[in-house]
Order: sequence, then structure tokens, then C-alpha cells
Amino acid sequence: MRNVTQTQPLPLLKSPPPRSTHLSFVICHLSFLLLLASAAIAEDSAAQPEITPAQVKPHVFHLSQPALEGRGTRQGKRLATNYLIEQFKAIGLEPLFDGKYVQTIPGPDTEDGKSTYVGHNLGAWLPGSDPALKDEIVILSAHYDHLGKVGDKIFPGADDNASSVAMMLEVARQIKRDKTAPRRSIAFLAFDLEENLLWGSTWFAAHMPWKMEQVKLFITADLLGRPLGDLPLPLVFVMGAEHSTGLRSLVEATPRPKGIEPAFLGIDLVGNRSDYVSFRDARTPFLFFSSGQHPDYHTPNDLPERIDYDRLAQISTLILGVCRQVTQADTTPQWTRQPERSLDEIRALNRITTLVLKLDDEHAAGREKLTTTQRSVAVNLHNLTAKILKRGQLLSSDRLWLIPSAQAMLLTVF
Ligand SMILES: [Zn+2]
Repeated sequence: MRNVTQTQPLPLLKSPPPRSTHLSFVICHLSFLLLLASAAIAEDSAAQPEITPAQVKPHVFHLSQPALEGRGTRQGKRLATNYLIEQFKAIGLEPLFDGKYVQTIPGPDTEDGKSTYVGHNLGAWLPGSDPALKDEIVILSAHYDHLGKVGDKIFPGADDNASSVAMMLEVARQIKRDKTAPRRSIAFLAFDLEENLLWGSTWFAAHMPWKMEQVKLFITADLLGRPLGDLPLPLVFVMGAEHSTGLRSLVEATPRPKGIEPAFLGIDLVGNRSDYVSFRDARTPFLFFSSGQHPDYHTPNDLPERIDYDRLAQISTLILGVCRQVTQADTTPQWTRQPERSLDEIRALNRITTLVLKLDDEHAAGREKLTTTQRSVAVNLHNLTAKILKRGQLLSSDRLWLIPSAQAMLLTVF
């Protein structure tokens, strides 16, 4: 469509038509051009993510600046929590914990009986507008803590997990601005102590302002800002949908900006990697979004300059769409004991291993050669997924091999 406007004027221009027809000719020509232009603008805005790179970037830079000491020291966490509470207030969200934004996570009492704390979860919410649905809760969360300092080395944690905290803040801002208020209530949680055995979300799940059965969907995200292994892959992994009826189709029905593709993987392929664990174990529908690990994961090089902000904006816009759908829908996904499996998961894994091996064969610039172990792990998973795809059917017995092979791949190669 667009190409036509730039180069090809209408063929009718060969011999000038008589005056009266000339005017109508000019008018219809102009309206046609206007039509093309508005379509181009519409297409461009459709391609543009609703949440923009300019909106998420400042949060990532602020949260991963050296002064916040990798959000692992008391000083660093205090500065991070102040910033997040300011953001919750600026967006116009209500405090979640009895008029406060902070949920203190207690530590052991001192010998003389003084209470101590080990951390602080932060929470805010938007009460639902529908009297029949306002007591049903959707949770969007991201952990804000990170590894802090080791000696004089700071671990800035731009991708882990300032990227997802930025997503959560900007999703909250858009939903607060929406003309149609959410029918169900939606809460926004910034968990502490994820790096410490998921303690923050575990404490929260046991000390919520609601009953677990009121939570209709728990969404969390981790490592959104860079593609898996820094591979040229437009994939964002969506995990956990297999455990609830209608959840995968809800995500698939969500409009998504160009440049990003959801790839559904079984949560069992990654194990207990982030704050969804307490909700999965309570059989509460959940979704875990992640772009996967990369070479700077849990190193001092996880810097804000290395984040792909277009990707982060696109994924944030996708998650915004999911939150809108589930807070407005008449019904919500239901937990199912029998996980729904699909060959798409195998296709995604096969696509990743194909690319990894191809780049390794080409010894692509800027990429280290795979070690013998890494290569054999990638080849193993590649052959396994190719065999399943050739068979065209996923057997339950396949998971016996798939899980350790995929975990080995995700943990050793990236
Ligand atoms: Zn993390």
C-alpha cells in the first residue's frame, strides 16, 4: 500500500481532461491520497507499541544506577522503594496494605524480643468498577530486588529485573488512564527477596489482603529486556498457560505490536525460576513472561545501556493487552489438572536450537563458539524436538527427556 504513494502517480495523467471533470478529478485524487495517508498513519500507529520505549527506559536507568547499589543493600533498597512508591502515587494507584504501599516481611526477633524485618514488598491497586466482579483480583507483579554488591562490584540488574518493574509501572499507568475502568480489581506488586528463594512472593501469598480463591490470574515477569542468549529472536516466552483453560487463547487473542512473538512453553521446562511458584502451587491460574537468560545474567554487566527498549515496550504492550482482557472479561481462565500441551512448544524449542547451531556453524561475529558440552546439549534438544515434529504428535513420555534437555539448554548455553 505504502509503496504506491511514494512512487507511482495515477496512470490517468497522460492527457489533461476538460475543466469540469478536471476539478472533480483533483478532488477525488486528493481524497484518495488522504485515504492512503490516514491508512498509513493507522498502520504505523498499530505497529507502534502503546507503551513506548521512552516510557519504560527512565525506570530501568533509575533502578539500575550505581547509587541503588544493585537493589541488594539496605540503602539501595530504600532508594528503590522510595522511587516505586512515588511512581505508584504519581500514577494515582491506591495503597494495598491497610492504607500503606509497604508490606514488611518480618525477620527473627532479637534476643531481647525486638522485631526485625528482612524485606519489604510494595503493593498498589485499582479497585474494580463492576459490583459483581470487583472482589475478583488480577495481580501483575515483578520483583525489584537484585544481587546488590559483592565486594566493590555492583550488580545493577537492569534486565533482572528493572526491565519488568518498568513494564509493571507503565501497564498500571495505561490502565489507570483507560476510559473504561477495569471491572475486576487489579493489583500491582513489586516483590522483594526474589533472589532469596522467592521469599517476598512466598510471604505475600500467605499474607494477602484477599483469599487465594479471589485471585483470578497472577502474572509475573522476569528478564524481559533482551532476547534469549542475545540471539536475533523476536520471541517472548509465555509460561504457565497450559495449566488453565482459555488462558492461551486469551493471550493469542491479545493484539500485539510488530516485532514480538509469544512462544508458549511449559512451566516445567524452567522449574521454580520466579515469583509464580506460590500461586502455581495453590493452583491459581498464572502466567510467567520472560525473554530468557543472556550472557550478562547475574553479572555486573547487566547494564541499562544493553537493554533493547523496543522489545521491552512491545512486550509491555502485549502484557497490557492481557491485563485489559482479563479485567474486563465476563469469565476468567480456570485451573485444569491436565496441562494442555501443544506442538508449538516443540516448534519454539526447535527454532531456538536451529538458530543456535546455525550461528555456531557460521561462527557468527560477536558470538563465542559453543563449548563441546554446550553444542552437544543443543544438538540433543534439536534432534529430540525434530523427532517429535516429524512424528507430528507429542507423547506424555516425551517430557521425561524434554524437561532435562531443555533445562540443560536454557541453563548452560545462555
Ligand atoms: Zn530475576
